[in-house]
Amino acid sequence: MSLKRRRKQAADRAKTAGLDALLVTHLPDVRWLCGFTGSNAALVLLCGAGARGRVVLFTDRRYTTQTKAEAAGTQVVIAPQVVKAACEWMAAARVKRCGFDDGNTSVAALQQMRAAVPSAVRRKMFEPVGSLVAGLRWVKDADEIAKMRAAAALGCRLFDGILYTMQAGMTEVAVAAEMEYAARIAGAEAMSFPTIVASGERSALPHGQASRAKLPKRGFVTLDFGVVLDGYCSDMTRTVHMGPARPGERDAYDAVLEAQEAGVAAVRAGVAAGDVDEAARSVLRKAGLADWFTHSTGHGVGLEIHEGPRLAAKQTQALKAGMVVTIEPGIYMPGRFGVRIEDTVLVTAKGGEILTPSTKAWIEL
Ligand code: ZN
Ligand code: ZN
Repeated sequence: MSLKRRRKQAADRAKTAGLDALLVTHLPDVRWLCGFTGSNAALVLLCGAGARGRVVLFTDRRYTTQTKAEAAGTQVVIAPQVVKAACEWMAAARVKRCGFDDGNTSVAALQQMRAAVPSAVRRKMFEPVGSLVAGLRWVKDADEIAKMRAAAALGCRLFDGILYTMQAGMTEVAVAAEMEYAARIAGAEAMSFPTIVASGERSALPHGQASRAKLPKRGFVTLDFGVVLDGYCSDMTRTVHMGPARPGERDAYDAVLEAQEAGVAAVRAGVAAGDVDEAARSVLRKAGLADWFTHSTGHGVGLEIHEGPRLAAKQTQALKAGMVVTIEPGIYMPGRFGVRIEDTVLVTAKGGEILTPSTKAWIEL
């Protein structure tokens, strides 16, 4: 989908909500609408008749050159305070009702927005519209899916590679460092989030960031990691075992794997997000492990590592073809161990396509 179509889609949505402009300040939304990747920007998207889908990008002097490369064809205004400048511009353009993302706007920013417009229009000017643009980003177009495939494929290569390096006594941070170095050498702009390497008892921490703990001779190691490639995030988790399993560990792994596969199998356009969660959760319930599954089954992923939809209990949101979601059940037994397995999955009309096909078979190192 071209940027023009994305803008029209957002403008149509805003117009239906009775707005004549959107003030976009959440940077992934700005990027999605105009291609600009700088760290300081505001975007005004006009929705009224005659100007529907037209955008004006506000950024500061550091980005003058970058805007020409990334947002060619977009009207650019260079200003020291981008939100203030955008609001003054809208007031001058006689915008009467402007939507803004209240989930990503501080109280101070809203005060600044109000102060930048004449008192006569101030009271009715700004309308909270939540994640109107971010919601449109849930469904990826062909170009985005290609980028997500590439990011996910790189993630898989990191996992396949680290298996040759990991050994007992190596610190978790060293494992993370090896993976991150390989990612950067392969062209990743960044990691999607701080790499999780949680070994031994630490595997029972759902978000055990790599620490100076050493990989045990015997026990689980959970690796949860992702790369950013062309702006798009990958996300996957594999849990491997150092040495032979202790009683109960293999059964726990197999139960999580079965739950994960059931979750993936439930993915299809039209299915409620909550039903995918239930598909995974019910497997762990039958195995008597549901109490240890303490988070939701998955989340959307794209320009941001955590996007909608949420794949959680009772979520009625229907999955749509083109959404990219994670399926990541896990169990966490404090003082013992934890297991999580996560794939990134593309939603299609026929089912879920796994973008992270690294093996999920039991691995003993
Ligand atoms: Zn993850
Ligand atoms: Zn995830």
